Amino acid sequence: MTTILIIEDDDIVRKLVRKILIQEGYKVMEAGDGNSGTKLAQEKQPDLIVCDIMMPQLNGYQVLELLQCNQETEAIPFIFLTAKAEKQFMRQGMQLGADDYLTKPFTKNELLGAISARLTKYSSLKQRYAGEAAPQVDSQLNQLTNHDALTNLPTQLALRDLFHQIVQSSLKASKNRVPGSPQQLYMVPVFCIGLDRFQRVIATLGYESATTLFQAIAQRLKEIMGSKGVIVRLSGDDFCLILNAVESKQSILNFAQTVIDGFKEPFSLEEQKIFVGMSIGVAIYPRDDLDISDLLQNANKAMLQSRQKGGNQYQLFTAAFNVGKSNLVSLETDLRYAIRRKEIKVHYQPKMDFQNGKITGAEALLRWYHPERGAVSPDTFIALAEEIGVIEEVGEFVLNKACQQLKIWQQNGLKDFQMSVNLSARQFNQLNLHQRLSRILIDNNIEPQDLQLELTESTLVQNAEVAIRRLKALKTLGVSIAIDDFGTGYSSLSYLQQFPFDVLKIDRSFVKNIHTNKANSAIITAIITMAHRLGLKVIAEGVESQEELDFLKKHGCDGMQGYLFSYPVSASEFSSSPFMGTNFQSDLI
Ligand code: C2E
Ligand code: CA
Ligand code: CA
Repeated sequence: MTTILIIEDDDIVRKLVRKILIQEGYKVMEAGDGNSGTKLAQEKQPDLIVCDIMMPQLNGYQVLELLQCNQETEAIPFIFLTAKAEKQFMRQGMQLGADDYLTKPFTKNELLGAISARLTKYSSLKQRYAGEAAPQVDSQLNQLTNHDALTNLPTQLALRDLFHQIVQSSLKASKNRVPGSPQQLYMVPVFCIGLDRFQRVIATLGYESATTLFQAIAQRLKEIMGSKGVIVRLSGDDFCLILNAVESKQSILNFAQTVIDGFKEPFSLEEQKIFVGMSIGVAIYPRDDLDISDLLQNANKAMLQSRQKGGNQYQLFTAAFNVGKSNLVSLETDLRYAIRRKEIKVHYQPKMDFQNGKITGAEALLRWYHPERGAVSPDTFIALAEEIGVIEEVGEFVLNKACQQLKIWQQNGLKDFQMSVNLSARQFNQLNLHQRLSRILIDNNIEPQDLQLELTESTLVQNAEVAIRRLKALKTLGVSIAIDDFGTGYSSLSYLQQFPFDVLKIDRSFVKNIHTNKANSAIITAIITMAHRLGLKVIAEGVESQEELDFLKKHGCDGMQGYLFSYPVSASEFSSSPFMGTNFQSDLI
């Protein structure tokens, strides 16, 4: 009898699925969380697993990953159940090796159809293997699990072996060196390569064309690599390259540059030219670590660093990325005193409206001037403030300061001007945010519509239903809401449609060289069109050149902020700048 395991924390859904399956003659096992589901699968090895994604104690992805690490369970057909809102994450599930997914609510026929299709496929695979000679089966299975079907590259499962082969042969080479020749230190560099903004490319091109593009990318990497080493496809859009042993750091840097240069030529796809950028991080054996997992992790950190710097570049791992705990501890103590010591200041960056070229608002941005360390970036200390629980205090400080400043400027005659303040995830989830905010508005005598709150999509999608409710409550106060850094997360605009936004801010990483970067310009034009359809205003951040500005304006963007027009400046600089005159008009547009 065919046994099916249902892993689902929602009792109602689980019981419903069970009922349908029992009626159909299947034997059913149930688990109410990821942990017990994984255990049950390992003990009983069901014929198929149906698994929810969002669950307490191990989510669906983690369950699938664990099962795939185990020979007994790795081949069990696996179907994800997903709520509509999580659908955009499904690619992640399919990449991990799920066989199918169903979006809740699904019909009985959809469920049974998916299950029987998977079971048929699996049993024919099993039969095929049962009829063949054992060694051949072994090698085929090996080929199946160690090779990625899409790119025909080895997968992460093969990484350890490949790495050992390379290290072994480099050791041999060093033993065989001619006696008396100078001692050479061999290094084996491990590269982690991430495609810049590939999620967005997929969203624009569609999954099928994006797959073709991805194959072409893998092919180009193979050509660049030649026989210099091996390429492994990691999960998602990442690759790992291991170079045969080299003797100098310079040859590592040269190779990294060769990879970057190799992607300067666009890809041609259905008459379109598509530029693909990549961020590269490198960790070196034995300097940075001896173990391949740790090396890869280090290379990954360096890769993220390159990406943060704007992508399309490489970065060697340095131990500094693992910021020493002691260093963080002292920063933490300092941050607790920083407000009291008045080391934290608010700067303001003007926002310009394209329609009339006027300054219609400013974004308040925190600055921390540490007495010894100098300026500490908000990207570092905001995260720290969240972690150590002082973000409420910091957030309250900015809100108050920004509102006070706005009042002063209004009293000096400034009109039609909106102040924007960033809200971090933790601040947004503060229980009494609504009261605090109305208190600040009243205390400073500010009209609610003159205040805008900027929230990032990652803050909102963590728990979308609650976030929507909280946002709607904030909107009843009358404040305006902007979605910040749009494009850096995974959410689609149509998903975000349920949120009551007024403004969409395109992340600055998309704006960079938008006039020459085809992929980004396609994305931005699509975002602008969709946002307008949803009645949102679109602001581009990080505009640094006139060409970028012209492009944005031409494509219907409503406004911008960026160094081209002004850096974030102190309140006094802002006050004495020409844009404080209410009739000020920029000559940039
Ligand atoms: P963000 O909200 O995306 O802010 C925009 C960032 O882009 C600012 O960085 C700004 O200085 C920078 N920027 C503006 N124009 C340009 C440009 O033309 N080119 C480039 N390359 N950059 C430009 P900043 O001030 O370092 O802030 C970094 C992040 O820290 C902010 O990103 C925001 O997420 C966070 N942050 C800053 N102040 C606050 C705050 O008061 N509360 C919270 N929760 N987060 C804050
Ligand atoms: Ca912002
Ligand atoms: Ca941003």
